Amino acid sequence: MARAPGSQPSLREANSARIVEAVKAYGRITQVELASATGLSAATVSNIVKQLQDQGLVETSATTRSGRRAQLVSLATSTALAVGIHIGPRSLDLVIADATLEVRASKRLPLPPDHRSDTTLDRAAMLIADVADEVGASMDRIAGVGLALPSSVGMGRRRDAYQLPGWSEVDVHQLLEARIQRPVIVLKEADAGALAESRLGSLRGARNAIYVHASHDTEASLLFSGTVHGGLGGAAGALGHVQVDPSGRICACGARGCLTTRVSGEALAELVRMSHGPMDLRAIVRAARDGDPGCRQVVTDAASLIGIALADLATVLAPDRITFGGELTTIGEAFVTPLRHALSARPLLPSVDQLLVEPAFPMDGSARGALVALQDTIIPSPARSMEG
Ligand SMILES: [Zn+2]
Repeated sequence: MARAPGSQPSLREANSARIVEAVKAYGRITQVELASATGLSAATVSNIVKQLQDQGLVETSATTRSGRRAQLVSLATSTALAVGIHIGPRSLDLVIADATLEVRASKRLPLPPDHRSDTTLDRAAMLIADVADEVGASMDRIAGVGLALPSSVGMGRRRDAYQLPGWSEVDVHQLLEARIQRPVIVLKEADAGALAESRLGSLRGARNAIYVHASHDTEASLLFSGTVHGGLGGAAGALGHVQVDPSGRICACGARGCLTTRVSGEALAELVRMSHGPMDLRAIVRAARDGDPGCRQVVTDAASLIGIALADLATVLAPDRITFGGELTTIGEAFVTPLRHALSARPLLPSVDQLLVEPAFPMDGSARGALVALQDTIIPSPARSMEG
């Protein structure tokens, strides 16, 4: 991912990013003004503007300044927009962005328990049209949709019994594409979260990293040399299925005592059912945040267990950085402190201050990452070329 600083391509990419930033900041700006705003030479500005124009990112038009002809540069209005969506057990997140990955609008929809694929994809399609309309774009300006889903959907074997019941039997990709008539790519929510942090957030510049998605279920994504390691059949990162309790319950995957049998949304709900009555994960996290001691206890215990499994994984992989996202992590210190303790307890790991970083997108990382994945597939952008 990272190139040696000062090498020609990285310099050109950095300059190109500076020019895009300046155009965004000023809206419309002449090439001469761009040169003074960025401190780059007129020749460099002219070359880069030409290149950005070829990529469809900026447009130029003729104007006059102090009686002299000048080239006015603005962001291309015809620039394709991309949509990132994350569908989880209880919510749908959507972001729409331009080719520079600048988010133009975002939406969150609550979803009913055990929501069905056909109804939810119908709602997703309607929401895409609404949000496109909101940013003043027609559907044909949408280059495509990146869709992040829990890993239980359509990946690996014996992973269909939990998280989104009924979804693994349908071809989600084909169903959404048929509804919106735009290209769709599907990826795992943890991988999407990792991509967002790696490209735009706290894992920028990290070569090898671990991203933990702790929500209704717990999954990890592994970044090797800045790239998501999918593993055989895309099954890598199944942190929720490492054994933490050899005499524990049977997991939906068929094995005994998986991490997920102790820390899933359902497992936490069961722990508080007798004292608090029925609660879903969001209610537990909210109550814990408001200081409810029982809910705080179950969240803290869950974070400790996730921390132990994560510390094992980190000891084996020796990543340069670790970050996280998902509903369970949004509680803050009650999640982070036990995680830090678990990592600090391993002398072979670097200091936890160096290793564990706060995520940039704890809530909507998967939707943003789906967008990044889509951009990587179909749209050229400076953000993408910067990664080489
Ligand atoms: Zn399992």
